[in-house]
Amino acid sequence: MIDVVSFLPSKRKQTASGWISFNAPCCVHRGDTPDKRQRGGIKPSPDNSWSYHCFNCGYTASFVLGRNLTFKARKLLEWLNVPTEEIERVNFESLKHKSIEGLLGERQEVIQRLHAIEFEDRDLPVTTEPLNELAMEYLRSRQIPLDYPFLYKTMPRPGIVIPFTHNNQVVGHTTRFLDDRTPRYIQDIQHGYVFGTDLQKNKWQTAIVVEGVFDALSINGLAVLHAEINDAQVRLIRSLGREVVVVPDQDEAGMKLVDRAMELGWAVSMPEWPTGIKDVNDAVICMGKLATLITIMQARETSKIKIELRKKQLVKRLRT
Ligand SMILES: [Zn+2]
Repeated sequence: MIDVVSFLPSKRKQTASGWISFNAPCCVHRGDTPDKRQRGGIKPSPDNSWSYHCFNCGYTASFVLGRNLTFKARKLLEWLNVPTEEIERVNFESLKHKSIEGLLGERQEVIQRLHAIEFEDRDLPVTTEPLNELAMEYLRSRQIPLDYPFLYKTMPRPGIVIPFTHNNQVVGHTTRFLDDRTPRYIQDIQHGYVFGTDLQKNKWQTAIVVEGVFDALSINGLAVLHAEINDAQVRLIRSLGREVVVVPDQDEAGMKLVDRAMELGWAVSMPEWPTGIKDVNDAVICMGKLATLITIMQARETSKIKIELRKKQLVKRLRT
């Protein structure tokens, strides 16, 4: 058994959402003042995997059953005063589960495929907090489901922090600032990263590829996070083994994505949306998720000639 809770300080409390909070052991090791406000949080899954986040210094670490302890997870356990032999035992117990992973069905298969593509663990920004009402209102106004692990920060500017996950590990993030100043986003993104693989469900045969993180969140799509798809991203998307439909933003930059999709032999969808709607998230705000998905599937096109025609039509409209 690997029960991480047994390693935690006895002074701790459990929240309704499954987080256990306690004084974070990480901050002092990272040049920060010691945490006395229980800003460390760990969320265990039923299968004994867990993820840790410090709301004080931004340290993150996670553990997935069947895999080696990551460097950051080991560090965290050390800081929790778990003896080295115990840490080795946890690692050993975890790897014993590796062989049965393959028996657990399709989602496991997806995870297995994604295993081949690894990213570094990354920290989230320092001094974050749970979403406040203002931030939740913003997300609701953009029709974004609130079950994603968003965070909020105020310094230097108020913004919503969207962790980038891959196989349920934090490997980067973007912050969407809520004031009107530019830049509107800052990103910590690793080369080849695709947002949204953890949003894909077991039985889906199609993966919808979009540009922005909010586009992806509003329809459980994959976001390439700019108007291009680099080769490493192509490998990651292909590794999912699904049919791909690219939905570009309906602007000049988005048309580059169309060319790239055709080059890759992927389907493209440029639905006829009401005037003023230029991306998937706009469409979801206007028509709802289901109607948007229907327009995407109906406008799905694989013929290069038809894609070129539709593109010309769109470009012409953009220029008038
Ligand atoms: Zn910390």
